Amino acid sequence: MTDATAMRTDLCGTLRVDDVGRTVHVCGWVARRREHGEHLAFLDLRDRSGLLQCVVDGSVDVRAEYVVRVTGTVRHRPEGTTNAELGTGEVELGDCEVEVLNVAEPPPFRLDERMDTDEAVRLRYRYVDLRRERMQRNLRVRAAVNRALRSAMDRQGFIEVETPLLWTPTPEGAREFVVPSRLNHGSFYVLPQSPQIAKQLLMVGGVDRYYQIARCLRDEDLRADRQFEFTQLDIEASFVSQEDVLGFISEAVLDAAEAVLGERPDPIPHITWLEAQERYGSDKPDLRFGMELVELTPVFATTEFNAFKAGCVKGIRVPGGAADYGRNKLDQLTDRAKGLGAKGLVWLKVTADTLDSPVAKFLSDDEQAGLRGALEAEPGDLLLVVADDDRHLVRSVLGQLRVDLGRPPVSEGPYRYAWVVDFPLFEGVDEAGNPISAHHPFTMPHADDVEKLQTDPLSVRSQSYDLVLNGWELGSGSIRIHRADIQSRMFDALGISTEEAQSRFGFLLDAFRYGAPPHGGFAVGLDRLIAILAGEDNIREVIAYPKTQSGIDPLTEAPKPVADRILADLGIRTLPPPKAG
Ligand code: ASP
Repeated sequence: MTDATAMRTDLCGTLRVDDVGRTVHVCGWVARRREHGEHLAFLDLRDRSGLLQCVVDGSVDVRAEYVVRVTGTVRHRPEGTTNAELGTGEVELGDCEVEVLNVAEPPPFRLDERMDTDEAVRLRYRYVDLRRERMQRNLRVRAAVNRALRSAMDRQGFIEVETPLLWTPTPEGAREFVVPSRLNHGSFYVLPQSPQIAKQLLMVGGVDRYYQIARCLRDEDLRADRQFEFTQLDIEASFVSQEDVLGFISEAVLDAAEAVLGERPDPIPHITWLEAQERYGSDKPDLRFGMELVELTPVFATTEFNAFKAGCVKGIRVPGGAADYGRNKLDQLTDRAKGLGAKGLVWLKVTADTLDSPVAKFLSDDEQAGLRGALEAEPGDLLLVVADDDRHLVRSVLGQLRVDLGRPPVSEGPYRYAWVVDFPLFEGVDEAGNPISAHHPFTMPHADDVEKLQTDPLSVRSQSYDLVLNGWELGSGSIRIHRADIQSRMFDALGISTEEAQSRFGFLLDAFRYGAPPHGGFAVGLDRLIAILAGEDNIREVIAYPKTQSGIDPLTEAPKPVADRILADLGIRTLPPPKAG
């Protein structure tokens, strides 16, 4: 591969001492211009590979962000002027001739890395923002991840198949974007939340191993880790077990991490959903730090302290936290716990031989010793305890406090991946009393639990699994139901009538009558994976043209009204916007 083109011989950032003596042509943007007296000008020239210092004898009429082509000779920088922070810091280009290829208005913000420009302004001028080294690097990380994933899938016998964007509702459960049909007024396409149904149909079609780096669209509120449109590594395979699917994805994700970081992460550990809830109070446990939830129910089995007379008592230890938490902060923590649904929060500060807490006097010596022992408390620690009959609530409150108090930024190493397996099939019940799918309604129940679908649905485990990295859910997948009889029991359990199932997913159910193989799959959210690998806490930093939190694209100003005649073509009349307030 050569970087040379008709206009340049080299990229700016690639020149080294070995190139001294060569006459080169480089092209790029003027990052900085400094005058040295009247007859010497220094230009820092920037292209995608980095910066190069160019020395011009005489004056030169260029300003920041002008596009120029410079011809000159590579030479050592004079003694004492080398710059160890720059790849090209030992050399410069001398005797330069500068040809202006294009002028530029002053950039709307400074492009150096120290800048702290408002994100809306960066997105409005994204084409300028993208010139920054960090953005260039992020886009390259993204490309490296995609390349590694494609090659891993290819090596494992998967073929890439594109599926339609103009599609029909899919069962992920999020709100969908709809697209009016010009040829069939009153009818709409739906932009796919994922290629879920399309890929299952590919399995019926004998494709055996499918993958796609797929765009997915969900009309949900945006956050640091969520955009309307996002990219998944989507896979589906036939005649597989859960372990097969985890193996395919592990291989691809670890390859991608290695491609970016230069080092292969350890094999990904498995943790059951139940264990993740019990130890971390979350189905996306962040394994980078301790502060695990500790079971205290047996310690207080016969307690006289009313607040601990509950079906579930659990606690966490904040190492060395006693000194950091004065009365004010402890009140805030208690309010936080109550906001999350707890009746209260008990705190205790550990000293050499006492527990310092307003409730200590209600706890027997045995209970105090049991508490210290179970939590492995050391003098100086802060202990936080939550009790309730609702075990799920205790876990989730403490899990959130654990994250609030101990969690490093998501992009900080060490990277800790985890497979969370054995999810429950349902996550509670809706208002009508029907169970709600934890994944989607095509997820296969655990083989041992099928019989409980009707009798005790909430205890049914599923053959579904999530991949988690540093406390972010990277993706999920499942072994699918491929038999019509189990699928209709599933719809029954979900309270979906035969007619409704037929009208929403009829084409899939039809297909299943023509020889559906056992199959399963997964989807990895690439924006999240790439953000973490690139050291970013916000997925917008690894997307070329993201939307703001309010769903606006400041660059194009989309969404915006369209002409009346376009609406008329589509058979659409709009209502006036709702009145504010
Ligand atoms: N379609 C699912 C999702 O997007 C992933 C899967 O089950 O393969 O979450």
